[in-house]
This record gives sequence, C-alpha cells and structure tokens, in this order.
Amino acid sequence: NTYTAAEDRYDKMQYRRCGKSGILLPLLSLGLWHNFGDVDDFENSRQLLRTAFDNGIIHFDLANNYGPPYGSAEKNFGKIFAEDFKRYRDELIISTKAGWDMWPGPYGNFGSRKYLIASLNQSLKRMGLDYVDIFYHHRPDPDTPLEETMGALDQIVRQGKALYVGISQYSAEDTAKAAAILKEQKTPFLIHQPRYNMLDRWVENGLLETLEKEGIGSIVFSPLEQGILTSKYLKGIPDNSRAAIEGGYLDKSLITPALVEKVQKLNSIAERRNQSLAQMAIAWLLKDERVTSVLVGVSRVSQLEDNINGLQNLKFTSEELQEIENILKD
Ligand code: NDP
Repeated sequence: NTYTAAEDRYDKMQYRRCGKSGILLPLLSLGLWHNFGDVDDFENSRQLLRTAFDNGIIHFDLANNYGPPYGSAEKNFGKIFAEDFKRYRDELIISTKAGWDMWPGPYGNFGSRKYLIASLNQSLKRMGLDYVDIFYHHRPDPDTPLEETMGALDQIVRQGKALYVGISQYSAEDTAKAAAILKEQKTPFLIHQPRYNMLDRWVENGLLETLEKEGIGSIVFSPLEQGILTSKYLKGIPDNSRAAIEGGYLDKSLITPALVEKVQKLNSIAERRNQSLAQMAIAWLLKDERVTSVLVGVSRVSQLEDNINGLQNLKFTSEELQEIENILKD
C-alpha cells in the first residue's frame, strides 16, 4: 500500500499568488480541523490527504488543538506524512497554529511568547517535522501586548521553525497594527486566515482592503459554513453530518427553517449553473482575487472531488451575482 503521487497533479489545479510574496497557493486547500482525530477513521484520513495531493492541493492546514482529542490531528497527520508524503516535503505547504486552549494552566492558551513557542515545539514533535511552512497566531488576544505575540512569531522564524507567519481572525485594525510590527522586525508575514462565506461576510468590511494594501494574502476558513452551504441540510439533519455530532461545533439549532429556505434558493441558482451548492459557494469566494485560497474541510473523498471539480466553473454573470445578493440580504 505504498503511495506514489499522481504524475499529472499539477495539471489539475490552479494556483494564486499569496499577497506580494514568492508563494503560490492552490485555489483549494485542505483543513484538518475535523476528520483527522483519534475519533475518526484513519484510512479515510489518509485517502483524503492522498486525493488532495493527487489533485494539486499542496497545502494542508492544521492547529495544535485539532482532533479530538487535542493534538491528535497533528499526530495522525504525522503518521501519514511519514509513510506517504516525506519524499514530497518540499512540494508541500504545511501550517499549524496556537492561540486557543491547548493545555491546562495560564501558559496553554491565548498569545504569550511562552505559549506560542512551547506549542510549536510540541506540534513539530507530533507531526515529525523540523519546521512548518506557516505558523499562525490562531486568534487575537486582547490582554497580551501585540509586540510580545509578534515578537514570538519573529523568534520562531529566526529559529528556523517556521518559514512564514500568519494571523487568524484579527480585525482589520489589529491586522494593520500587527503588519506594522512585523514589518519593523522584518518578519515574513505571508497570510491572514479569516472566516468567510456567503453567510459570514465580515471581511468585506475593511479586512480584505487592509490585506491588499499590506501585500498579504488570505486563506478563508469555513467556506461552506461547516456544511450549511451545501445541499445536505435541505431535508433535515442526516446522521453522518457534522450537525449530527452531539456537543460538536455545528449546533443543530442554527439550522432554522428560515436559513434552510435561503439555502434552498441558493441551491436553485447552483442547479441552473450545473453545479452543486458547495461548488458555487467556493466559486463565489474565489471571484475576489484577494482571496488566495479557499480552505475546505471534507469528511469523505467524494466531497473533496466535488469541490475540486467545481473549479471548472468559477465565472458568474452579473445577473447571477445580483440574484445571490438579493437572497443573502433577505
Ligand atoms: P467547511 O465550511 O468547508 O465545512 C466542512 C464540512 O462541509 C465538511 O466536514 C462536510 O460536512 C461539508 N462538505 C464539504 N464539502 C462538501 C461537499 N462537496 N458536499 C457536501 N458537503 C460538503 O469548512 P470547515 O469549517 O471544516 O473549515 C475548514 C478548515 O478551516 C478547517 O479544517 C481548518 O483547517 C480551518 N479553520 C480555521 C479556523 C480558525 O480559527 N483559523 C476555524 C475553523 C476552521 P460533513 O462533515 O457534515 O460531511
């Protein structure tokens, strides 16, 4: 069962430059938040990574606390990496993060130098890597001076433990402040990872402009609103869906009849375009060149293939875009 990557993998994907940097990222990247923990099927996780790479998805996104349990996504990724991807290391962009709760006590959370450096050291061990390509501060920390957090990111790069740094979910204003500090330190600030999808458009309110001005790329997470922007919840909550997981991150109660009606309308537009709603939701994000990559999660290979095939039709007519706007603003 040894793995050899598809030879034509780079013919199948398009790549976009990440801000004003030397890095190109695939239009689709794969996130390991769900489906790679110890609670998940290991062989399925492996097939997801192989299918991604075979299709030119050369960016895998992790974080210290992905699982469950925390750390297990990195550990399982490390196993698969060692067996399947080691010889492709230089073709891959692997990222991880720290910023949310990871271990007990005051040093296992938020944005101190102590936490970030210790956490990345743990992550590298779990994944069996010498360095990651991108290390992120996972969320803003209002109580730690930004100079300390950005100083930790800089030190991590100087130590050779990350090639580039990024931030996630920082506001436009805090992003500009972080960019100023990182510029002064000459830290390679590659990317911002914000939440962005048809139902959550906060980035349009200043963040994307700030990123463009600063020459920083973006990779957007939860592009399908955790699965709501697909056809799967149109007729109730299927057993094998994220919303069916008790105590998980997607609360059933969020899927209201009003929301389902809206999604149904979006789905009709997607059908007219001969696309799945997931495909249209991804294309809708990529219409903005400031979005470098769309970071999807998938629970099975067929979903990944669906999302990849959607890249064949990224164009919208202005009428379609207007129709979508009308649905979203209701
Ligand atoms: P999505 O919005 O893409 O949701 C993923 C879920 O959507 C899948 O698990 C699956 O649901 C469903 N899905 C995906 N493709 C299809 C398809 N073609 N047809 C039908 N259903 C589909 O993204 P996530 O919320 O998972 O986030 C993606 C990544 O972003 C994460 O893995 C992580 O790397 C990153 N992230 C970063 C955060 C941050 O703070 N920086 C926070 C959250 C995520 P189902 O499981 O029901 O089958």
